[in-house]
Amino acid sequence: WREPLLAGEYYSSFALTEPDNAGADPTNLTTTAVRDGDEWVLNGHKWFISNAATADFMIVVAVTDPDAERHRRTSQFIIPIDAPGLDVVRDIGSVENPRPRPYTYGSHCEVVLRDVRVDDSALLGNRGDGFLIAQKRLGPGRIHHCMRWIGQASRAFDMMCERATYRYAHGSVLADKQTVRNFIADSAAEIQALRLMTLHAAWRIDEEGTAAARKDIALIKFFGAKILHDVIDRALQVHGSLGYSADLPLESMYRAARAARLYDGPDEVHRDSVARQYLKGYSRPADDRPTEHIPTRRAAAQRRFADLLAEQP
Ligand SMILES: Cc1cc2nc3c(=O)[nH]c(=O)nc-3n(C[C@H](O)[C@H](O)[C@H](O)COP(=O)(O)OP(=O)(O)OC[C@H]3O[C@@H](n4cnc5c(N)ncnc54)[C@H](O)[C@@H]3O)c2cc1C
Repeated sequence: WREPLLAGEYYSSFALTEPDNAGADPTNLTTTAVRDGDEWVLNGHKWFISNAATADFMIVVAVTDPDAERHRRTSQFIIPIDAPGLDVVRDIGSVENPRPRPYTYGSHCEVVLRDVRVDDSALLGNRGDGFLIAQKRLGPGRIHHCMRWIGQASRAFDMMCERATYRYAHGSVLADKQTVRNFIADSAAEIQALRLMTLHAAWRIDEEGTAAARKDIALIKFFGAKILHDVIDRALQVHGSLGYSADLPLESMYRAARAARLYDGPDEVHRDSVARQYLKGYSRPADDRPTEHIPTRRAAAQRRFADLLAEQP
């Protein structure tokens, strides 16, 4: 599969998310792969599988070891798109594309697996490595998205600045209005910050590997999605109803930007991961119990104050 994929002859899709389980927590999956003789039999329901309708194969994450530790329960399988029992049911309408033309590239599909049979050669990596491989794949995938977001935000920024130089209202061009100048300055600062943070995360991946760069990748994932949205939003505002119209690309960029806060894991999960990793570097003083925390400190401060007063002549 790999050589034709790299040569651009094959397209792939990746099926993890399920409609009936929280995709934000991939340890909850219910799609199963059960051993039957020399084969695996897969059953399950997936959705929002990008490009499933036009892919040549699908990488499916399924539970192979339900009793294992929760990060070791799943495995990944490479399944040809025409395998009997694998049905791409529909292209899902979305904010980005409310009425997708059936079976077009770039759509997000609902997929059903009914007794799909594959042999061991379909197993990607080792049995039980499903979560691990997903983490490995999603790290570089996320930074790739951030690079595209920088490009999109820069395009919106250029459009905003250009428009500001010639649109005339209330006695001056928009570029002379303080609010618009703030839009421009804030956007420039944010894009620059995102660019440098993305470069830093990329450097960290190169130098120390994806696992070591986890925090940096999570940071740019939620920060980048917000910058993308905010810059496009400002550019659209500066264009008035022209920005809102489908005559310019801004409205479709704006709709596509909304998805960035969900795919590759919702913002909240990445924020939580960043906070968790930072908090590891801090610990509560051993003698400080939570219930006594504030009163103990207040009492200590009062004692110090009393001592200070006593020392005064
Ligand atoms: C455009 C697009 C393309 C996609 N492509 C693919 C694809 O190719 N393959 C694939 O497998 N999936 C794909 N997805 C699915 C995507 O990865 C999931 O939608 C995402 O992981 C969230 O899962 P969910 O939709 O089940 O939401 P849920 O898991 O139900 O989460 C819903 C909300 O709950 C909140 N939440 C969840 N966990 C926490 C937490 N720990 N703390 C605080 N709040 C929390 C968040 O606000 C979150 O948005 C795609 C989605 C989109 C929008």
